[in-house]
Amino acid sequence: MPKAKYYYDTDTCKYEPIRATTRDIIIDGIMITSLIIVAALSVVILYMSYFDSPKESLLRAENKKLHFYYNMLQKDMGDISQTMSSLQERDDHIYRTIYEQHPIPESIRRAGIGGAERYKHLHEAKLEDEETILNTVSNLDQLKRQMYIQTKSYDEIMGLADNQQVMLASIPAIPPISTSQSYLASGFGMRLHPIHKVRKLHTGLDFAARIGTPIYATGGGKITKVSSSLHGYGKQIEIDHGFGFVTKYAHMSEFKVKINQRVKRGECIGYSGNTGGSTGPHLHYEVIKGHKKVNPIHYIYQDITNKEYETLLKRASIENESL
Ligand SMILES: [Zn+2]
Repeated sequence: MPKAKYYYDTDTCKYEPIRATTRDIIIDGIMITSLIIVAALSVVILYMSYFDSPKESLLRAENKKLHFYYNMLQKDMGDISQTMSSLQERDDHIYRTIYEQHPIPESIRRAGIGGAERYKHLHEAKLEDEETILNTVSNLDQLKRQMYIQTKSYDEIMGLADNQQVMLASIPAIPPISTSQSYLASGFGMRLHPIHKVRKLHTGLDFAARIGTPIYATGGGKITKVSSSLHGYGKQIEIDHGFGFVTKYAHMSEFKVKINQRVKRGECIGYSGNTGGSTGPHLHYEVIKGHKKVNPIHYIYQDITNKEYETLLKRASIENESL
């Protein structure tokens, strides 16, 4: 039974019991309920700020694991990046150097793909570990880019290697006539002209040989000239080897090839003679590189022994009269 409450009435000089109205009771009830709710909420908020819910704990643990894996990924990518650097180094300093290509500039190798725009969605996601994730994604992008450039470089080198094979088979490399069936009578350079008797640039090599000695294509190519004249070069053949090289064979007696025919190095193209402005049976052989007549002695290095080459060099350097 609840105790009754009293108040002192100064008029009656007595303690009179307080009579609570229904309104008072309702107000009291609301106030007490509110206090209880506030107190309960405070306890829950306090608990939540110090302790995780089971779901939060799980997420937090998962986040930690993700962070760990992201760091592991970063480390792996660091290793891959190092391997890539050594591939790039080898590419620039060995493969590209062999084929006389400039190294790929660092600015191209290191360039990223896309700017800040590319990572905008990541910024907007407002991730807790934004920096780690952004680093991982941008490192991966850079690796992709480097890999692409490296592949392109290898393609280029492969193309050059194929081309090099063709070039090696094309440019003049052997004596145009058997060195045992001929005699190098005159070399390239200033020589006394046999007819005009003045010092003149002799633009080729003269191989003295019996009429009818086989003449060989000194490199692979296409026959671009088969012509005859009573003066000058007489019966002559020209071969275009590509890569800026042309060879000329003059004073021939007989042709074995036709215009536009393709020939391989060492293929017989005709026979030596004594036609045109010639003072004795011989083959006049020229090498033209980029429209300039050059010393053919530098383009004889295959199918010849060192001793034979030495003899050729010695004879070619004698300042005698050309044929
Ligand atoms: Zn000559």
